Amino acid sequence: MSPTATASRPTTKASAASATVPGYAGKLLRVNLSTGKIWTQPWAEHMREYLGGVGLGAKILYEEVGPKVNWDHPDNRLILATGPLAGLPVWGTGGLSVITRGAQTNGATSTQANGFFGAALKYSGYDAIIVQGQAKKLSYLYINDDVVEIRDASHLKGKDTWETQEALEVEHGLSGHRLSVYSIGPAGENLVRFAAIQGDYGHVASKNGCGAVMGKKKLKAVCIVRGTKALTPHDARGLVQAADDIAHDLKTDPAASTLYRWGTLPGVTNLYKLGALPIKNYTTNLTTVDMTTWEPAKLRNGFDHRGHQCSACGMHHCHIQVIRKGPKAGELVDEPEYEGWSGAGWTIGATDQEGISWLNTRLDRACVDVNEFGWVCGWVMECMEKGYLTEKQVGFKLSWGDIDGAYRLLQMISHRQGFGDLLAEGVKRASEKIGGEAAKCAVYTMKGASPRGHDHRGRWEEMLDTCTSSNGTMESANPTHQTEFGQPGRINPFNGEEVAKLVGGILGRKHFEDSLGGCIFTFRSRIEMLARALSAATGWNYTMPEALRLGRRTAAILRAFNLRCGIGTDLEYPSARYGSRPVDGPAKDHNIMDQWEHMVDVWYETVGYDRKTGKPTRETLKKLGLDWLTRDLWRK
Ligand code: SF4
Repeated sequence: MSPTATASRPTTKASAASATVPGYAGKLLRVNLSTGKIWTQPWAEHMREYLGGVGLGAKILYEEVGPKVNWDHPDNRLILATGPLAGLPVWGTGGLSVITRGAQTNGATSTQANGFFGAALKYSGYDAIIVQGQAKKLSYLYINDDVVEIRDASHLKGKDTWETQEALEVEHGLSGHRLSVYSIGPAGENLVRFAAIQGDYGHVASKNGCGAVMGKKKLKAVCIVRGTKALTPHDARGLVQAADDIAHDLKTDPAASTLYRWGTLPGVTNLYKLGALPIKNYTTNLTTVDMTTWEPAKLRNGFDHRGHQCSACGMHHCHIQVIRKGPKAGELVDEPEYEGWSGAGWTIGATDQEGISWLNTRLDRACVDVNEFGWVCGWVMECMEKGYLTEKQVGFKLSWGDIDGAYRLLQMISHRQGFGDLLAEGVKRASEKIGGEAAKCAVYTMKGASPRGHDHRGRWEEMLDTCTSSNGTMESANPTHQTEFGQPGRINPFNGEEVAKLVGGILGRKHFEDSLGGCIFTFRSRIEMLARALSAATGWNYTMPEALRLGRRTAAILRAFNLRCGIGTDLEYPSARYGSRPVDGPAKDHNIMDQWEHMVDVWYETVGYDRKTGKPTRETLKKLGLDWLTRDLWRK
């Protein structure tokens, strides 16, 4: 297909190609920001085995980004991909996967967001957008079915993500769900290493600095008009039956139904009971706050809120709110996920619910990952309390729980002003630069990423997963129905061997889900049901074991990518504070580092990787059907 182009506004008229496989759009959209070239590529090959989303993205990343192409090199790819269920009538299928070489680890990244982007992309006729090169000036990508243009974004410079979306809605005369916009705010423009990509007012692809990659490419936003192309599943009746079963499961299964009712809000009190709520940068697991005021119904008390669901989603999970009381009364905010209450709250010692909700939205609008912000800000607060950092160094006095001070720090980071310039490098690099006692207080993995919003000293499976993962965040993520994978329903959370077997045993589950184009909260249903929906959508027969195999293929490719970039087994452990012994709370007597080496050994054995080199073994690659990767990894 040959694109038509104009000198000032390269445009593709991607007319004909129809999907070759039901459920898919059948085309990849390619954009070179350096040359302005836009073209499409038919995609049918490998759909069966790579699915889409992170499955597709991992393969493209491995094939097209060589080891010398660092995260900030124009040849790095920014892949915005969705999957075969996106746009179909299954709950939570507006999902987007972002795959790139990320700014925090300088290794593979896959991170997901929800909203409408994935569905709009499919309705426009594309399964993924692959962006390469670097624009000469700030630009945005406009997609309206076959018309694709790189447009000037100088009028959007400095705007936050909500302002950017509003401005583009006005510019195109489209609002509501007719235009999906994913953009970066000031933090992305200024290459903050933990910048995120935010879209559809409240959805964030946040991990491993994918927003910094977008900023380096001078790509302010991607906006897609909803699209007019029909998507036809292979077996519409079977798909609707599978979708009904998934919805029923989520509404009625006790393990999943709380998500239906309250989203991730119960995480705060539940994790507190386990000693897994990160309080004041891991300095304690106890609080004098009355935790009954943090139960979900009470958490919604201070706000007027209404549903803010994503494409095709019946889960009443996302909410937009107006703050009812306090100094921020009247402000419109997105209801924080559990991780928002954690990163913009407990980690920095804040317990003012309205203030946290407001700060969480400000982080989204600036396009900053809420978790990494929590680790950075909490680290500064602790260091100032202990005298490891001075007011003169930071620029002002910052104490635990100071929401307005945290916001001031956010602005300094987003614009790389003063001490904020160092903090914009993330907590690992900043703490290593300061050194001394301050360095010992920082929470991170040796690869450069940081944990999600938990105290993993009370959630060992997540610390092991975070440290061994290749994608800049958790790779396995504990499933609701782990018995589906032959795992025990319950394990001793402080028995390293049991934990390692569990984490290794479910590797691949999340990559499979993230390849379908859906949301983690609705795809938390049984994998067997997702495989059934996928079979109905595509006409190919998928089973539960095969789902896991396909996910493990993706994990193996991401690992091979990192190994080729020099990110190896020597970095698979936590920082001193991250792996420290809790001083109080329910996990007090449990020190993960006493069992760490054995846990990593068991994990390697379980996933079938070579402990010394970190490579998936030849046997493992053979089982996964990755002969081409065997040749690459083991040819010497
Ligand atoms: S569960 Fe929440 S985040 Fe997921 S698709 Fe539904 S409304 Fe969106």
